[in-house]
Amino acid sequence: MGVKEKKIFFDYKITREKHSNKKYIDLNAGIDINPKAMQFFKKYNIVLKKAVNLEWAKFLEKLNLGVPRLIQKTEGELIPRTALGKYRKALEPYFKNCFYCEKHLLQKEIHVDHVIPFDYIAEDSIWNFTLACQKCNCVKSGSLPPEKYIVKLIERNKNYRDKISMLEKSLTLLGMNFEKVIHDHFENAMMQGYVVLKKIL
Ligand SMILES: [Zn+2]
Repeated sequence: MGVKEKKIFFDYKITREKHSNKKYIDLNAGIDINPKAMQFFKKYNIVLKKAVNLEWAKFLEKLNLGVPRLIQKTEGELIPRTALGKYRKALEPYFKNCFYCEKHLLQKEIHVDHVIPFDYIAEDSIWNFTLACQKCNCVKSGSLPPEKYIVKLIERNKNYRDKISMLEKSLTLLGMNFEKVIHDHFENAMMQGYVVLKKIL
């Protein structure tokens, strides 16, 4: 005698052997696909694909140090990046050393670094920019720096907001409690799987 099991997405016929009472799937009966489930998959196909990909990317980012913007690429979206020259210009008069290793910066090797990775923050704001040497910038790549650099960034922003008008504007946009906002960004990025480096160099 055939017994139908309740399945959400598909169903099949379970048959019991007459004497042994053993159950087996009756392959001759085929598989019934729930038409409502099919409709659901068809209707939400794009969203479901993205959700699955996103979860994969989040998982992989933890394992692939230095492979930035994976989530973005998987979703096939490009977040526009602005030229970083204006931030360099604004910071250069005040900062002569690498934010991380504190080595004196040579003109040709100055990099504008997103302290909290661009992939996470998805915008260019000077509160998140520092000048770094090529080595530190490359090591850091799409990862988070050790927390002491977040503290240093907050201090930098506090001490220079009166001197750099662009910084003043960007901190104003972050709100009264910008220190907490920056810290929250760091914590959130960490929770999303961004690796926190133990040291830069
Ligand atoms: Zn450096």
